[in-house]
Amino acid sequence: MLIDTHAHVNFRAFKDDAKEVLQRALESGIQVINVGSQIDTSRQTVELANQFASGVYAVVGLHPEHTHSQFVDEEETHFKTREEVFDYDAYKKLALDPKVVGIGECGLDYYRLPEVQDSEPIKQKQRDAFRAQLRLAKELDKVLVIHSRPAKGDESLYDDLLGILDEENNQPSALSPQPLRFEIHSFTGSPQALQKFLDRGAYVSFNGITTFDKTGNMEQLVKMVPLDRILLETDCPYLTPVPNRGKRNEPAYVQYVAGKVAELKGVSVEEIAARTTENARRLFRL
Ligand SMILES: [Zn+2]
Repeated sequence: MLIDTHAHVNFRAFKDDAKEVLQRALESGIQVINVGSQIDTSRQTVELANQFASGVYAVVGLHPEHTHSQFVDEEETHFKTREEVFDYDAYKKLALDPKVVGIGECGLDYYRLPEVQDSEPIKQKQRDAFRAQLRLAKELDKVLVIHSRPAKGDESLYDDLLGILDEENNQPSALSPQPLRFEIHSFTGSPQALQKFLDRGAYVSFNGITTFDKTGNMEQLVKMVPLDRILLETDCPYLTPVPNRGKRNEPAYVQYVAGKVAELKGVSVEEIAARTTENARRLFRL
């Protein structure tokens, strides 16, 4: 059994066959956590999860790219993001559904910023939305699912993220005295930056990038995350793992990520499957 802890079967790429894709995953022993990126895709994660008695869960939140409007044009994505201000109460209402296990994906993305002279106001919007979602996760005692993508050659984004995490964690909260549970998804930064998240109790989820990264960085990152903190994900429909590059990604392909992570860790696929499943259950309380 495997758990795809970060999928987007709620996205448009699956508009014609979302239910079949999830059914196929469940039949091959793969459970799925679908993640929202704005209010409508968040609502869809909850609706999808409720179509299944078990094995499909939801995370609701606002992606940093959707805190401002811009055109995104990359290998697997072409879309115009819609500006949305994080509405605490609307997301809280959604997050009260029993199928919701986390808040996100939220965080910071300084990689794709609109070409403006001063990007500081945009970064500030991202930071504000992230802080608000962190507070919601704490209030409801849900897992915070963090997206982080630094600008090329500049890791200041991690300092901003860690600064907010530390500030908020040091605030005594009557609503949630227990420490924040959080996951860093699709981390691609330096080992030094990753260590700072691990020191703060982060779980780290790996995806198809591990199967096609040629820099050696992912290998180093996988090796440094302890076996009791590793999670698997697809981030589908994006980041399709080898051997299916070029095809639409889907939760069933998380098996290829499991294979690669097992190889890099020097353990059997069975062990990686067992440990990552146990970790996901513990973290998300599935
Ligand atoms: Zn994602």
